Amino acid sequence: MTAVHPNHKKAKALKSGSRRPAKELCSECGLCDTYYIHYVKEACAFLNQQFDQLETQTHDRSRNLDNPDELYFGVHQSMTAARKKEPIPGAQWTGIVSTIAIEMLNRGIVEGVVCVQNTKEDRFQPMPIIARTPEEILAARVNKPTLSPNLSVLEQIEQSGMKRLLVIGVGCQIQALRAVEKQLGLEKLYVLGTPCVDNVTRAGLQKFLETTSKSPDTVVHYEFMQDFRVHFKHEDGSVETVPFFGLKTNQLKDVFAPSCMSCFDYVNSLADLVVGYMGATFGWQWIVVRNDRGREMLDLVQDKLELQPVISQGDRHQAVQQSIPAYDKAVTLPMWAAKLMGVVIERIGPKGLEYARFSIDSHFTRNYLYVKRNYLEKLEAHVPEFAKRIVGQYKLPD
Ligand code: FAD
Ligand code: SF4
Repeated sequence: MTAVHPNHKKAKALKSGSRRPAKELCSECGLCDTYYIHYVKEACAFLNQQFDQLETQTHDRSRNLDNPDELYFGVHQSMTAARKKEPIPGAQWTGIVSTIAIEMLNRGIVEGVVCVQNTKEDRFQPMPIIARTPEEILAARVNKPTLSPNLSVLEQIEQSGMKRLLVIGVGCQIQALRAVEKQLGLEKLYVLGTPCVDNVTRAGLQKFLETTSKSPDTVVHYEFMQDFRVHFKHEDGSVETVPFFGLKTNQLKDVFAPSCMSCFDYVNSLADLVVGYMGATFGWQWIVVRNDRGREMLDLVQDKLELQPVISQGDRHQAVQQSIPAYDKAVTLPMWAAKLMGVVIERIGPKGLEYARFSIDSHFTRNYLYVKRNYLEKLEAHVPEFAKRIVGQYKLPD
């Protein structure tokens, strides 16, 4: 039987490759590949910033800007560090995301899981699916470090008659999802989010790998780690590390997608549960429970996890202030200096939640300048109040 929502309106989906309403700011979230494009003007994260409204719809309140943790990490009930007792081989970290999704499916809490596998031909080319078996969820493990049209499968939900669904996704996808949530005809929607920053198109990824790794063709996985290095994992299991401060910033300046250069939802504010790494120390994942649905999801896997409290050490402010003009002028240090700086900052630099704040501050200041310089007319409405307060702590160039 097909479920049809009584108020649901449709419009013709755009052909792949055609220009999207958000133009160059489009993050290819997938909404415009479906008839839900009807709602694009309200739903698109880059056309209509509406965190307050969507936070209230999702968590029953918007974030408390006077609470320093909520200012940075959004509405939440708790934060913790965790890792799987038995990690999933080939997962991005220890596979907490895949484990929760499998558990929800196995227990019949949901009938399907929106996640993203890769195509047969290309390990980094995203292929969103609605998984209905644990094997299909496992095949979606590990990041596809590229813009991914996860919402392109939304029409299939309605066609399948599914009523209980889990969606895994990054901030821009989840913002659009929340905006059309009521039109999906679901009885229950769970959202498991990951943080996301500095994403790229498939072509941009190739440039990044070729500019940064010694062996771009054998990279299977990479991450910007808490030790201030990019870790590339290669097919043969070897790990190559490159210090952040040694990245060829002058060649990489245009590599990040314009959507990601103007995004302020690093921490996926509208997910029920967020699983990342940046608020935890090396080797651990960082878990943010935003509401009761998130708590229910985390409880399902408690016995499979080692847990420890989050910590916060150091003071990020000076490092962030210094990084602003350095990024702006595309300064690249010689490799020996970059390595030395990496070692020093790892020893005395910010850790745990303070590392997460360092990363948020560095990206928000950079993105604020990008929007100001390229989309001045959007600046006021597009930058949310929490980001304005965070950026306001620093002195920015014009
Ligand atoms: P796995 O069990 O390996 O599962 C990964 C899940 O991610 C899969 O279910 C898959 O469907 C989904 N996925 C993969 N690629 C995409 C994509 N492009 N879009 C949407 N969903 C996708 N965490 C931080 O703390 N700081 C960061 O800066 C950060 N940047 C990220 C950038 C990107 C592009 C992505 C996709 C994730 C990022 N994360 C970041 C999250 C982090 O890298 C891990 O994904 C997270 O900790 C989960 O690890 P895991 O082992 O539990 O996941
Ligand atoms: Fe459409 Fe998503 Fe692109 Fe916005 S970001 S224009 S909603 S595909």
